[in-house]
Amino acid sequence: MAQHTPMIQQYLQIKAQYKDAFLFFRLGDFYELFFEDAKKASQELEITLTGRGTGDDKIPMCGVPHHSADDYISQLIEKGYKIAICEQVEDPRQAKGVVKREVVQLITPGTVMEGKTIHEKENNYLIAITDFEDGSFGLARTDLTTGENLVTLITGDFDEVLQELGTIKAKELIVSTSFAEEYTKRVNDVLTLTLSYEDEETVLPSFEPLVKHLEQKKLISTFARLTHYLARTQKRTLDHLQPVQYYTTNDHMKIDLHSMRNLELVETLREKRKKGSLLWLLDETVTAMGGRMLKRWVERPLVSTHTITSRLSMVESLLNHFFEREELRDQLKEVYDLERLAGKVAYGNVNARELLQLKKSLEQVPLIIAMIEQLGNPHGLELVRNVDRCEGLLELLETSLRENPPLSIKEGGMIKEGFHLELDKYRDASVNGKTWIAQLEQREREETGIKTLKIGYNKVFGYYIEVTKANIQYLPEGRYERKQTLSNAERYITPELKEKETLILEAEEKIEQLEYDLFLEIREQVKQYISPLQQLAKCMSEIDVLQGFATVSEQQHYVKPTFSENREVNVIDGRHPVVEKMIDHGDYVANDVRLSRDREILLITGPNMAGKSTYMRQLALIATMAQVGCYVPATEATLPIFDQVFTRIGAADDLASGQSTFMVEMLETKHALAKATQDSLILLDEIGRGTSTYDGMALAQSIIEYIHDEVGAKTLFSTHYHELTALEAELLRLQNVHVSAVEENGKVVFLHKVIDGQADRSYGIYVAELADLPHQVITRAQEILSHLETQNSNIETVPAREPKVVQEKPVAIATEAEQPVQLPLFETEQPEEQKGEQALTPVEQSVIKKMKKLDVLNMSPIEAIQQLNELQKKLR
Ligand code: ADP
Ligand code: MG
Repeated sequence: MAQHTPMIQQYLQIKAQYKDAFLFFRLGDFYELFFEDAKKASQELEITLTGRGTGDDKIPMCGVPHHSADDYISQLIEKGYKIAICEQVEDPRQAKGVVKREVVQLITPGTVMEGKTIHEKENNYLIAITDFEDGSFGLARTDLTTGENLVTLITGDFDEVLQELGTIKAKELIVSTSFAEEYTKRVNDVLTLTLSYEDEETVLPSFEPLVKHLEQKKLISTFARLTHYLARTQKRTLDHLQPVQYYTTNDHMKIDLHSMRNLELVETLREKRKKGSLLWLLDETVTAMGGRMLKRWVERPLVSTHTITSRLSMVESLLNHFFEREELRDQLKEVYDLERLAGKVAYGNVNARELLQLKKSLEQVPLIIAMIEQLGNPHGLELVRNVDRCEGLLELLETSLRENPPLSIKEGGMIKEGFHLELDKYRDASVNGKTWIAQLEQREREETGIKTLKIGYNKVFGYYIEVTKANIQYLPEGRYERKQTLSNAERYITPELKEKETLILEAEEKIEQLEYDLFLEIREQVKQYISPLQQLAKCMSEIDVLQGFATVSEQQHYVKPTFSENREVNVIDGRHPVVEKMIDHGDYVANDVRLSRDREILLITGPNMAGKSTYMRQLALIATMAQVGCYVPATEATLPIFDQVFTRIGAADDLASGQSTFMVEMLETKHALAKATQDSLILLDEIGRGTSTYDGMALAQSIIEYIHDEVGAKTLFSTHYHELTALEAELLRLQNVHVSAVEENGKVVFLHKVIDGQADRSYGIYVAELADLPHQVITRAQEILSHLETQNSNIETVPAREPKVVQEKPVAIATEAEQPVQLPLFETEQPEEQKGEQALTPVEQSVIKKMKKLDVLNMSPIEAIQQLNELQKKLR
């Protein structure tokens, strides 16, 4: 085997420590990748794969320029990869042998600080899990961009862990190497995240202050695992990490993953986009951090009546003060992302422009606080009470920073006059020098009499006096030294110009250096304010979310909900907030929902497309909105505080999940039945649809009975099995309701109105009519249906249809055996047993035969229509 060069040996040594990452190996102005990394990266990044060395020893290699590396790093992070940044850590000119190199940072999906994967209005979480011996699980997570740290203990089964992971949507998961593989497999089945390992779980001294207040001591080890991973990958102090906050999943209304998806709380079911979700509707926040807080709130509605009503009262107060609220919005618009700015300060990569954003934000703070105080709402007052306005920081930034600093912190132009004596002196020197030069131009012109003489400056030659070739003859001898020749001019320098130039350039160099040093000093000082800034960010975020609630509540005419203690639901003229917004406000048909102790289950029937699903989701969304502290789309709403919401959609309807099997439907239903309590809300939408009719109907009935007898949760159950409406007679707490439709001129018109009582019939046939099936097929279907309904029997006893002669053209058609048969115009001979169907053609007879064989009860309406369609084709 060929011996690698010393540099490649160094590469291999480092790479061995970062096997699961792309190693970006710094070579001059490039980051190079070698071997397998190079092959994979060239594919993922679509960059050219080259080679290093010659012949058989050629090593695969590809590279990206270091100044544009961020973009490539983002691309890889987005795909879930990790990147180890390996820099030259000594000056190549001073190096003996191979330049020393070290990995300075491991960038991973959960630790990335900027780029495409970081969304303004979303957190970027990294989460660690410990499976404790007693069967419980510790979860610790951090958002490195904001410094937020949260821990919780889950005592239930791994399902609950999955549930929590799904809600958090972390980008990266850290576990110990002994963590059960079965668990990681289950995580990978439902979520896409990057997996990392860390076994160390004793707290690093620098992180002790963050956990010392924690009562759940065992969670400290989980947080320690997290911080070890951070320390190992980030290789820097993380001053912005906030004290760990403990929460329990019981503090929130639980909405499992499927329900969250089905209800489209934060993204739509099909396209996975924010637009069209409840979050999208509610998002009237004007700051990025407010947007993030709103998302967290929507994912975790509250269960504490006190906190909910307290938020609601603040919304009310903001709603009642239109002008103040508008002003508040304007002020908040000037507030930048304080949380992430604080994170950048800690990472030491904040520039003067960003510090200026910080300044502008802080200028708004006193105004915002004054506005909240003026409103006088207790919740608002509590929010701003004791909040540190960071006045010292504001003063520092106001006195030190200029208005329009450059992007780079190395070219000066950042520090304000009057901030630093020495800096001002250099600036004077530079400015004076420049005025002297401007005056010199005038003097030189007068002395030489050359009107076109000018003084200029360029980076290579410095200051010069430029005289056109035609005028050179007028220059006096001696003083002018030639510096540069152009095609039609000469450039000169004089001793006095040279002297000033040196002064100016020296001063400017000093200015740049001094400004840079001063800026770093200021940045260090800003670091002292990270913690108060984070507190301030929380306060501003909440004000923003609440003003957003007031804003949308006003725009959409929502009302303040009240809460009942006897588990009663009384929603008058409720609306589905998103559907209402999508169609014109006036076109939405509002509906009441009444539920109480003796009206626990609503069995909802009605034709397809009538609005059953919408009606059910409407209640869940109203409950969710109420429990996050927002007004709700209704004219009046009294609700219980729900502990959990379950939403299940029959597999046939659940097109989006991609795994619409009946098994999934049943698993989800099981979960709801097992976990729901009397305080829960269950929505079962056409459950049982994924299997054959009798099966499905039987299951649906027994599920309803079980909920009725054993669970006692408030339940909305929509079904296309009309037979189930008979349950009302047996189950005391079940009430039939239906979404009404009327017939107008033989056509169905959906009224979208939900009223008590069962739907008078299945409208499948009407839908068939809407689809323009021939009249004859429709009337026959109606006949069959009415028979089935009255006889409750099967197709065998359906009366034969009226014999009828069809004038048939002699055409070639395919029979069942696909044999083209030439049919005579009139049948002359009839077989004996078909006497009763004398006038029927063979085609008609085959149609009838087929029809008799149809298992109508085991068909969905769509299948029925398709069959009808086929039969009809034959007849034609
Ligand atoms: P179903 O579940 O009964 O088949 P959906 O709830 O899916 O019906 O509603 C079908 C469509 O009818 C919805 O997409 C919506 O546009 C419209 N719709 C439903 N309810 C209403 C309503 N209350 N007011 C106005 N349009 C509605
Ligand atoms: Mg539906």
